[in-house]
Amino acid sequence: MAADLVILGGRLVAPAEPTEPVDVVIEGGRIAAVVSAGEAPAARQTLDASDAWVMPGFVDIQVHFRTPGATDSEDLASGAAGAAMGGVTACVIMPNTNPPIDTPDMVNEVLALAAGVPCDIRTSAAITAGRAGHRLADLPALYDAGVRVFTDDGDCVADDALMEAALAATVRLPGAVISQHAEDPAMVAGGVLNAGAVAERLGVRGRPADAEVSVVHRDIEIARRTGGRYHVLHLSVAAAMDLVARAKAEGVAVTAEVTPQHLVLTEDDVERLGTTGKMNPPLRLADDVAALRRGIIDGSLDAVATDHAPHHPTLKDRPLAGAPPGMIGVETMASVVWSEFVATGEMSPARFVEVVSTAPARIAGIADHGQPVTAGAPANVTVFDAAERWTVQAETLQSHSLNSPWSGRTLSGRVRHTLLAGAPVVIDGNLAV
Ligand SMILES: [Zn+2]
Repeated sequence: MAADLVILGGRLVAPAEPTEPVDVVIEGGRIAAVVSAGEAPAARQTLDASDAWVMPGFVDIQVHFRTPGATDSEDLASGAAGAAMGGVTACVIMPNTNPPIDTPDMVNEVLALAAGVPCDIRTSAAITAGRAGHRLADLPALYDAGVRVFTDDGDCVADDALMEAALAATVRLPGAVISQHAEDPAMVAGGVLNAGAVAERLGVRGRPADAEVSVVHRDIEIARRTGGRYHVLHLSVAAAMDLVARAKAEGVAVTAEVTPQHLVLTEDDVERLGTTGKMNPPLRLADDVAALRRGIIDGSLDAVATDHAPHHPTLKDRPLAGAPPGMIGVETMASVVWSEFVATGEMSPARFVEVVSTAPARIAGIADHGQPVTAGAPANVTVFDAAERWTVQAETLQSHSLNSPWSGRTLSGRVRHTLLAGAPVVIDGNLAV
């Protein structure tokens, strides 16, 4: 009997064996076998992977798909389409929607809307009811509804006692994690850009680096006391990374992610990018970028996540101080990281897979993704052509929004095919659904 699908002649990322080109046989949504190239059985469908890597599908654990409440900027279908084009087979959406995702009913409503989109959508839920920062949401009930990531993202949980209660509550919920947007709200109030030369030049208020460092410091101590799992969203400051790295070495259950933009861009880029260059936490200094780049290579930082934050062009077309913060990025994540790190020889393909797939899946408790490409694994797979160069044009990305900081930039490496539970959702760089 013919196999469902075979991916022909791709290369697996070391240390997987064999390292020679392989055929990946897919049956019933799973990888049935990995055999030497040319040895696969007949199949109803084949996809060419010659001169390309066959990798576990990428996982983006911080995206805003604006459903419900702002579907002009993005919706679950457009967000998932961009994810699929970027080789991302699983996403965690953030709960700062309107209304916020803070009850099991809201979780179920959003997940029902995500049925049939070309990416496995998981939702986080708010730590506090209404994301208002006053009392905890019903974390155990949300956990029972399938939530593993709890966050008030967009806002920081500032109250010490609430944060302690949240981390203590999740100790009893295996796999749950408290993810913090770590910026002390009192310190960043009214702030638009990194507190520094560019903010001064443009006459806007700054968001100091210490606002992040102080929250990360406090939260690590709470995580140490409670034993709860703590994750730093979009870490942006070198000193905060150092705290995370030290705490990890001391056995505290802490992880941190970094966005592609914080690994590449600085506050100086805001003058070129305009409101697209505005995000929270803000683009920082060259010294921070250099430190974070070392950290994503050496393991001080665990994962890349995009904070994909679409805003309809009419919303971003305002003075800097009044424009909403955020950049899109789910569709370009892998190509930016590959271009900046692997193509330059700074990062191995194996570490690339770790930071864009394995680690984020592990942090967010997504068991069906980020698995090695081996027999028995769910067939959430991306075929990535490292040799292809392409120039990003915001208008041609899948997002409803245009706020890509990478528009006009030529990148190395592009997704050729994406398979979601064995079904191709991108074929030869085009959406297949
Ligand atoms: Zn955030």
